[in-house]
Amino acid sequence: MTAAGAPDELTSVLRQIVGAEHLLTDPDLRAGYEVDWTRRFHGPCDAVVRPADTGEVAAVLGACTAAGAVVIPQGGNTGLVGGSVPGPAQGGRRVVVLSTRRLRAIGPIDDVVGQVTVGAGVTLAELEEAVAVTPWRVGVDLGARESATIGGMVATNAGGTRVVRHGMMRDNVGGVEAVLADGTVLSHLGGLLKDNTGYDIASLLCGSEGTLAVLTAVRMRLVPKDDERCVAWIGCGSWNDAVAVATSCRLRLRSLDGIEAVDAAAQRVVAEALQLSPPVEGTIGLLVALTVDGGPQLDTLAALAGERPVAVALDGPGASSLWERRDRVTEAIATTGVPHKLDVSVPLPAIPPFTAALPAVVTAAAPGAAVYVFGHLGDGNLHVNVVGPAPEEDAVDDAILRLVAANGGSISAEHGIGRAKQRWLHLSRSPEELRTFRAIKAALDPAGTLNPGAGPVLP
Ligand SMILES: Cc1cc2nc3c(=O)[nH]c(=O)nc-3n(C[C@H](O)[C@H](O)[C@H](O)COP(=O)(O)OP(=O)(O)OC[C@H]3O[C@@H](n4cnc5c(N)ncnc54)[C@H](O)[C@@H]3O)c2cc1C
Repeated sequence: MTAAGAPDELTSVLRQIVGAEHLLTDPDLRAGYEVDWTRRFHGPCDAVVRPADTGEVAAVLGACTAAGAVVIPQGGNTGLVGGSVPGPAQGGRRVVVLSTRRLRAIGPIDDVVGQVTVGAGVTLAELEEAVAVTPWRVGVDLGARESATIGGMVATNAGGTRVVRHGMMRDNVGGVEAVLADGTVLSHLGGLLKDNTGYDIASLLCGSEGTLAVLTAVRMRLVPKDDERCVAWIGCGSWNDAVAVATSCRLRLRSLDGIEAVDAAAQRVVAEALQLSPPVEGTIGLLVALTVDGGPQLDTLAALAGERPVAVALDGPGASSLWERRDRVTEAIATTGVPHKLDVSVPLPAIPPFTAALPAVVTAAAPGAAVYVFGHLGDGNLHVNVVGPAPEEDAVDDAILRLVAANGGSISAEHGIGRAKQRWLHLSRSPEELRTFRAIKAALDPAGTLNPGAGPVLP
């Protein structure tokens, strides 16, 4: 196989492993795997390979490493930092995208402990559907649930809208099966809560962004299903006000699932692009989700909202409709152009000064750009989206991430580093930490097969 797609020895080996139907070299068939969800990141590959099981993944990785090829693991391709697609040039090496979408087995659900082993290519929506008949559900939820895979969610240590209560993906994983670049299979899927028998490989692979191993199966810890869910939208006058309400909610509402915020600009774009009007007046829409086990929580919620405008709905179409106005913000912004996506976290007290300084910082770096702020306020995690600057211009990214660092924040709260954030990793990680990342990479993937140029290991 060559960059032009002509067959060679590696192509024949890969074809023998996965079958001709699952080795894609035709440019039209490869195209969807070469560009990411944001359309900002893209790069060519020589082939897409779609293995059916762990044995085939191991054989593919062994063959690619032996041939000196680069492998880009790809799940649902919903990642927002360009880590799931090839870079524009991969050091002249041949490039293979390894799609995990055929790793779709869902094992028996252990009703006693609330666990299930699933293939890395199972989507979050498919897993939710499989567990719907049990008293359990998945603890992590995010807007890309129809396409995001469980393997991709582990590889990015995905967060989402329920972190306040159930933590990030790392907190919901009981073990993994993964394949190293040389084809070695590591499997630890017992799911024991207590198991101090050495390094926690599952935890190491959470957030590794396809740079250390290809996840093939995950032991998921489920959480008890809620009885009834209540969603409330509170109109807050400012970020200061929103932070104050969020803190009161965390202190006083039991069974709180999430606290989300959507600024006025993002609410406007949702209204215009999706014809979904803001449910209440207010500069910042604060969305609070909680499980209700009786009237007292609703009374507390009403007291917390005070004089602010509020819309409340219990489970059903009303709650879904309120939630939709948060769930579909990313989708609405994407209709306005190719966004620069800054997924950052700052300490809660720093949110008002950070958001106050933001407009001037954006205007100085990208005059005329539109800026939208929304995200998981309960976790101090804001998604700052800027539309206007060309995809390859990064002056505005630089200015915002420096503002984040100056406010004691992290340059990537939940999306990871990918290809988009490597340049700024030093703002959040020390030289000693970056050296340690490199040492771990060298130990597990000495040939540099897996996703070079992306993730937390700098070239
Ligand atoms: C509308 C929308 C809403 C979103 N909301 C959230 C949110 O609230 N919270 C959040 O955290 N993210 C969110 N995301 C980002 C994205 O959905 C997550 O990062 C998700 O975890 C990616 O899963 P994926 O299967 O699509 O992975 P991909 O995009 O395919 O890959 C992401 C990274 O993981 C690696 N990878 C994928 N599969 C494997 C595997 N099996 N083994 C090893 N490495 C692998 C890739 O190489 C890449 O580096 C959102 C995205 C969209 C489009």
